[in-house]
Formats: sequence, structure tokens, C-alpha cells
Amino acid sequence: MTRRTNQRIDGARLWDSLMEMAAIGATPNGGVRRLALSHLDCQARDLFRGWCEEAGLQVRVDAIGNMFARREGRDPARPPVLFGSHLDSQPSGGKFDGALGVLAGLEVVRTLNDLGVVTEAPIELVNWTDEEGSRFGQTCMGSGVWSGAFDLAKIEALSDLDGVTVGQALDETGIRGSETPKMFPADSYFELHIEQGPIVEREGKMIGVVTGAQAQVWYDAVVKGQDAHAGTTPPSARRDALVCAARVIELVDRLMRSRGEKGRGTVGQMSVLPNSRNVIPGEVRFSVEFRHPQDAEIERLDADFRKEASAIADASGVDLTLTELFRLPAQAFDPECVDLVRQAAARLGLPARDIVSGAAHDAVYVASRLPAAMIFTPCKDGLSHNEAESIRPEEAEAGCQVLFEAVVARANSASARGRVDCKH
Ligand SMILES: [Zn+2]
Repeated sequence: MTRRTNQRIDGARLWDSLMEMAAIGATPNGGVRRLALSHLDCQARDLFRGWCEEAGLQVRVDAIGNMFARREGRDPARPPVLFGSHLDSQPSGGKFDGALGVLAGLEVVRTLNDLGVVTEAPIELVNWTDEEGSRFGQTCMGSGVWSGAFDLAKIEALSDLDGVTVGQALDETGIRGSETPKMFPADSYFELHIEQGPIVEREGKMIGVVTGAQAQVWYDAVVKGQDAHAGTTPPSARRDALVCAARVIELVDRLMRSRGEKGRGTVGQMSVLPNSRNVIPGEVRFSVEFRHPQDAEIERLDADFRKEASAIADASGVDLTLTELFRLPAQAFDPECVDLVRQAAARLGLPARDIVSGAAHDAVYVASRLPAAMIFTPCKDGLSHNEAESIRPEEAEAGCQVLFEAVVARANSASARGRVDCKH
């Protein structure tokens, strides 16, 4: 539990709001299905907007649906301190991924209201559109457009499996707002999120002080061999695409493990053609991704993977094509903002450790333009993107209290004063 300070957030009120939000899109197994730009997303936004307006915030929405709820500062001319996360979920997601950061942000505002505190700089609570990427195939859509990483027209043209485009969904749901979806002068950004991994929990800590996000490289792999009869084709005549793919998967795992605990390498998706039990597979398509905290190690993984995978394909008598989908450099968070999080945890007596985020988050895109930091809370068994995703009320409370301290300290700090623009 957090130590008593004279400015305490209300953990029970935060928990009640989390549970009320989780009822929108609730699944029978205790999870949440609230896909981006769906009617359920719309309901979640309406609930959130109502709460914001009750708390006296002024809500603006931009053309990609990002919501900004502003609480005025003593000096309205100062650039605002931003904080928030996302309200959309995976198809079989949990109650806390994203919602925790948004509703903890709301609790920060409610607490400031209760205390009658006005911060020096304004503060703005953000709900970013479509962080999950599960409907239209683009993660961190809203924050990516806002920060200039993605082109709005291209994003609006993306479609879901039913052929509904982002643009249509924005219009049909009425989620689209009138603001131009691009970065405006802001001081900094803070995001509280569940870790979605096991590290903070395993070490018995309450807070992960997130120092940055790891680098990633993603590929599409296609192996072409030859379809042939399973009964009549002897080993010398086989060009089995799936056997090659299996060897490449083993390579991905081996390259990952050779990097120790910091390595990540995954094949998570595969299609086999013709997918018939008595035909040697002639074509296999699969995904490959590597992640590591250091850009240099991603470069080495990329070089090693290309070289060894092509040797495997040659030895297997098949053709392998690797298409790089994207490469995301490692993103370090702002040392001053990270330090505010670290100091808050220390002041509150909360056991904490530094951690590099294994997942992409809205904060990673925002951090390319603004000083940013993240706070992780543990989640049960490190499980996320799963209906069983779970955190304890005291963990939500501790994370929210750290968010409160960091946002308020930043909004009252001299370093916020006069800072009107951003890194480019
Ligand atoms: Zn999330």
C-alpha cells in the first residue's frame, strides 16, 4: 500500500470506474471485447466524456477520434502536460489494458478537484484512438497520426475484415471530431499501463519505471517449394515448404535465445498451402518478428536471420522471400520525466524497478515528439490480451498515485514553463 500523503487519490473510486467501464463490451469469461471505432467504443467514449464533463473538463476530439480533456492551469498560456492511454481492447481482451491509464488519469483530475488544487500548467487527459490495431491492422493509430508517424489519408483508407474503412467507421459512429489530428504544443506526456509481462510481478515490485521501449523488426516470410503426392514422392524429390519453414522457426527461436533474457523472436502466424494432409506443402507464409532494447542488436539479428534463413532455404531446395514490414527504433523516454516517476515511487515507499517496455504503446509514438515517460503496474502472471488479464485494486491505486505525483510535479515545475514545442 502507498504511504499516506496529504494528496491521496481515491483507490475505491478508481476501481469502481474501471469496473463500470469494463461492463461495456464485457465478455462471459470476464474479459472485454471493445474494438476500436465500434459502437461499443462509442459507448465507452460517451461514458468517459460524461465523467470528464462532470469533472469540469473541456473535451475536444480530433478527426481521427483522439479525445483531449483539458483542466485549465493557473497559467493557461503554458503548454499542457498530457497523460492518458486508450479505451479500445483486443477481441478477447481484459479490463485493464488501456482503460487503467485513461481512468487513472480521470482519478488524478477528480482528486485535484477534491483538493481544490490548480496546477501551474494546464493538464490534458487523452484517450487515443485504436491502440490495439486488431480491427484495422494498425497499432497506435491515433497517437501515430497525432505525432506525425502515419499519414491520415492512408490510415482512413485501411479497412477491417468486413471492408469497413477507418474513415467510414469514424463517420458512422460519429466518433470523428473537428480538430486537426496533429501534434499541438504540449509540455510532456505520461502514461500508466499494466506491464503485460511478468517482470515487475516476479520481483515483487509495485511499480515499473519505464525507461524506454525496445527496437522491433517485423517480416513477412514466404517459402515456395512444390506441391506433391505424400505417398509417391521420395525424400530426394521433395521440395517441402513447411519443413523449411519449421527450420526457420527454429532459427528464430535460436537467435532469440542466443541474446539471453533480453532477446525476443516470434513466429505467430502461418498459412500452409494447399493445407491437405496427403499433399507435401508447396507454399508456406508466416510472420517473423524480433525485438531487443538495443538498435545495434536488432541490426545484428536482422543480418544473422537473413543470412542463416537463406542458407536453410538453399539446403532445403526451396525459395524463401523475406519482406521487411517495418522497423521501429528503440525509443528512450525523457530522463527528466522518467525521474519524476522514479522519485514519486520512492517518496511513496513503493518498491520499484527500471524496465524497458516490451510492447509498443501510444507513449512510444508521443515520445518521438514530446518528453514522455510511462509507469507500469504488475499484472497477474504477466497475462494480457487475454480475458483473464487481472490486477489487484492496490496495484491500480499505487500506479494511479504515482501518475498523480508525476503529472502534478511536472505541471508545477519550472521546466514546463515556456516550453512550447518539441523535439523533431
Ligand atoms: Zn494497451
